[in-house]
Amino acid sequence: MADIEVDYCVVGAGFAGLTAALRLKQAGHSVAILEARDRPGGRTYTEVRKDGSWIDRGGAWIGPGQDRIYALMDEFGVNSYKQYTDGEAMMVVDGKQHRYKGTIPLTMSPWAVANLGAVFVELGEMCRTIPLETPWKARKAAKWDAISLAKWLGDNTLSKPAHDLLETAIAGCYTSAASEVSMLFVLYQMASGGGPSFVLGVKDAAEDARPVGGMGAVYRPMAAEISDALHLSQPVRDIAQDSDGVSVRSADLAVRARRAIVAVPLAIASQIVYEPLLPMDRSFLHQRMPSGAVMKIAVLYDGPFWRADGLSGQSAAPDSPATITIDASTDTGRPGVLCVIVEGPIARKLGTLSEAERRKAVLAELTARFGAKAASPVDYIEQNWSVERYSGGGMLSHAPTGVLTQFGHALREPCGRIHWAGTESSSVMCGWVDGAVRSGERAAREVTEHDGVVSLARAQ
Ligand SMILES: Cc1cc2nc3c(=O)[nH]c(=O)nc-3n(C[C@H](O)[C@H](O)[C@H](O)COP(=O)(O)OP(=O)(O)OC[C@H]3O[C@@H](n4cnc5c(N)ncnc54)[C@H](O)[C@@H]3O)c2cc1C
Repeated sequence: MADIEVDYCVVGAGFAGLTAALRLKQAGHSVAILEARDRPGGRTYTEVRKDGSWIDRGGAWIGPGQDRIYALMDEFGVNSYKQYTDGEAMMVVDGKQHRYKGTIPLTMSPWAVANLGAVFVELGEMCRTIPLETPWKARKAAKWDAISLAKWLGDNTLSKPAHDLLETAIAGCYTSAASEVSMLFVLYQMASGGGPSFVLGVKDAAEDARPVGGMGAVYRPMAAEISDALHLSQPVRDIAQDSDGVSVRSADLAVRARRAIVAVPLAIASQIVYEPLLPMDRSFLHQRMPSGAVMKIAVLYDGPFWRADGLSGQSAAPDSPATITIDASTDTGRPGVLCVIVEGPIARKLGTLSEAERRKAVLAELTARFGAKAASPVDYIEQNWSVERYSGGGMLSHAPTGVLTQFGHALREPCGRIHWAGTESSSVMCGWVDGAVRSGERAAREVTEHDGVVSLARAQ
């Protein structure tokens, strides 16, 4: 086992850990960053294909207000390009296809449309009452944390089509059934991004743009800049702390540092053995914030043929094996990529099929929506995040009822010499790549401030 001695040790090389290590190194500190996988990027994963085209198998989109990921892109000279949104989106309700422009399918019954609009407005108003740093102190925190998203939607959405659409869209963000997620957590997470329009929208919202080259175009140069500190294929097994420092160990490495930043998803943070035991509320938080199931499938064609048919590629069909689709073509439009996202209970069900059965079911859905050309892709690439040992699901860990009000305070509180990063610990853009970057910057500041070193610029 090799011994390393550094100022700070970072666990996990997703965007949170990479950012923390980068900022510490840039400020002149010695760092070691231990990553379990044989690649950096974590829940983002850009595959570069033989022809130079690229596919984002995980996190991909960026939007306005996500200033910290945009700042990193500037730093490494990565441009962005706008998401294709021309043409009509499609909603499939009870087998009937509705083509529409904008956020709400106005071809649904006037009653359903009015109900959708009213619920949207109400959600926005509720989000405005949530203090982002301390959502558990919202005036109605106890009331909203006692009920699930399913209960709130059931009580407040009177039109069935509007209800089903909202349930698919909102519960999908947490990749779980609506009954699994606390309403307070939903409001907090939405508020952290600026409200429901940002979370559920595309243009000028969470899926407004993408980095040219995918997320890998950002995380690869970050990893290169700290390459001497980055140790891949080193799952951390235990972290021991004493009055002088921390000892972080994988099978091959033992790192001694003044402090550690743990930047792994909350859902799997308890895979690491902490010595002494973490304070009770932090330990219990690890047991209480699971991640849901999500499968992201890239279906590749020679070009984005749906655009010529006046379609944007965006579609939604509750309960279908291709629940959500979006045009995920690169900036050149070659190849044309339809991205299929399947979440929650349907993703778990789909995960039990063989790859051939899944492909058949997905392509049949795409053909029904986009026509015969959809049946013959040039490639089909699946990523099932639900079975990734070092992600524990995706897209983010969520809080079931009762968790945020009782254990939320432990989300960011350092435990002695152990500090916490990761998108789940960010009060702004919680759940997005931008939130991960913010959390890494915050944790880097935190460790140096605790050591009395204040050389890091305030970036947020
Ligand atoms: C399918 C999908 C689609 C998404 N779409 C978007 C999107 O379009 N836009 C967006 O902004 N966000 C999106 N997200 C969310 C986004 O990817 C995450 O918010 C972000 O990548 C989280 O970064 P992180 O650094 O906090 O965690 P992670 O990326 O999970 O990084 C944690 C790292 O820790 C490592 N690790 C775990 N355990 C150990 C251990 N014991 N020892 C050492 N290392 C360990 C992991 O391997 C990983 O590299 C999506 C996520 C998924 C899964």
